[in-house]
Amino acid sequence: MRKSIENLGISEELRGYAWDRPPVEPINGVRVSVSDLNGFCPTRRDIYLKYVLKEKPQVNAYMLRGLACHKVIRETITALKKAVYSGCESGEEIIDNFYGDVSIPEKICGDIGVKPDYCIRLYRVLVIQAAAKVDEVLSKYPDADAENIVGLAFPPFMERKIDGSPVGLSKNLSLDVFTPHSIIMDFKTGVEKYEHMLSLTGYALALEADDETDINFGFVIYIRFGRSVQFVQKEFVVGDELRREFIEVRDEIAELIESGIDPGKPAQCPKYCSFSGVCNEGSC
Ligand code: SF4
Repeated sequence: MRKSIENLGISEELRGYAWDRPPVEPINGVRVSVSDLNGFCPTRRDIYLKYVLKEKPQVNAYMLRGLACHKVIRETITALKKAVYSGCESGEEIIDNFYGDVSIPEKICGDIGVKPDYCIRLYRVLVIQAAAKVDEVLSKYPDADAENIVGLAFPPFMERKIDGSPVGLSKNLSLDVFTPHSIIMDFKTGVEKYEHMLSLTGYALALEADDETDINFGFVIYIRFGRSVQFVQKEFVVGDELRREFIEVRDEIAELIESGIDPGKPAQCPKYCSFSGVCNEGSC
């Protein structure tokens, strides 16, 4: 990957910190969320409904499961880091303390209102992976203290807050994982979509604007629940082509909202659109 960035190069004028001049500079005062970039609607009527008519999307079971998985990842890793700081400093101790105690996923799923089975599986895989990672660190650095174990075995930033407003995005973005190596990550539980790279590109520009730093690599991690829980990694360079495409989609959405014009329905609506109750029941 590092080689490909050397070869491709990333234009300075497409970095987020060039937010005060075109093409990165927003075209109007509209600010949208990153998820708007990968909406389901082919005509972007979902954007019109959400921002112009102020309709609320109907939350479906897939969205709730995705939300629960995100919370399980965040809270499990936070709890594991705290445990290491409190003296739980080997893989064996982590397994002993966490593997059988599934209160974290059970509470999250209870609060959200989904069955806990998927989340318990995800939780246990995270615990096993953390235990293995801690032991790996200890075998390489036997004298490592808690600070070093946490720093080397866990991602440094979970749900990193970002102000995306300089690049036309929401003021309160939350990125799944940010590492100090100019790498950002996003977890997904649904099907693989090209637009997921586009939304991660949005996060990259927002971070570049917020921190005045270079973000060069993106990882979309798809969580798959088969016979085992798998993390399928899609890695990419946040290159010029993706950056231009992000800006184009962002501007298209900003224009649509500013115009207030209904773009109409597509010939066929995707099955799981969260606005189907609005569009197909005569309310607009
Ligand atoms: S229901 Fe159809 S028209 Fe309405 S937002 Fe969804 S995809 Fe678009």
